[in-house]
Amino acid sequence: MDTLVMQTRHVREMCFQTEAALMAELVQGQHPSLLYIGCSDSRILPSHILDAHPGTVFTTRNIANIVPPYTAAQQGETAVAAVLEYAVLHLKVADIVLCGHSCCGGMQALAHVEALEPGLRQWLRYAQDAQLHIPPEVEGAARLDALIEANVLLQLEHLRSYPFIAEAERAGAVRLHGWVYDLASERVRAYEAEAGCFVEEAPFGV
Ligand SMILES: [Zn+2]
Repeated sequence: MDTLVMQTRHVREMCFQTEAALMAELVQGQHPSLLYIGCSDSRILPSHILDAHPGTVFTTRNIANIVPPYTAAQQGETAVAAVLEYAVLHLKVADIVLCGHSCCGGMQALAHVEALEPGLRQWLRYAQDAQLHIPPEVEGAARLDALIEANVLLQLEHLRSYPFIAEAERAGAVRLHGWVYDLASERVRAYEAEAGCFVEEAPFGV
C-alpha cells in the first residue's frame, strides 16, 4: 500500500508540474467528449489506448466489457446503466467506445461458465449470446478471437437497447464504436458496419 500511495503522490506531483493550468481548469468541472466502456483486465490502460489527457474520457470497466441490456437494468442491474445515463444525458458525450481486447479471461471463461462462482456466472450471462455467432468448427485461439469480436457487437446491441441511447444515435448526438484492442501489437481494430468486419485503424486521440 505504501508503494501505491507513493505512486499516487508521484503522479499528482507530475500532473501539477506539467499540467497545472489544465488541472486548475478541471477542478471547475469535467466535460469529457467520450465514454469508454472496457474490460477490468489489468493489462489494459484506457488512457494509453486513447492517448487521453485528464478530463477527456469518462470511463466504466467491468469483466468482459459488458453492458447489461436495458431489460436487465429495469430489473435492478443498474451499475452500467447509471454510467450511461450520466455520460449521455448529463455530460452529453459525443462518442461511446465499447472496447474488447485479445486474451480476455472473461471471454475464455464463457466455455465453462457453469463452474464459476455465482457472481461471475451471473455477470457473464450477459455475454453468453456471443457464442451463438461462432460456428462449432471454429476452435482454439481462432474461436476466442471470434468470440471477443462477437461480444463487442453484442454489447453494442445492448447499448442500443437503452431508449435514450438509440434516440441520441438516431439524432446524431452520439456515435457508437466497437473496438478490439490487441495486447501484443497495441493496435486497435474498429468495427466497420458497412464492411461488416473489424479493420485496423489508428486510435484517435482525445
Ligand atoms: Zn477482458
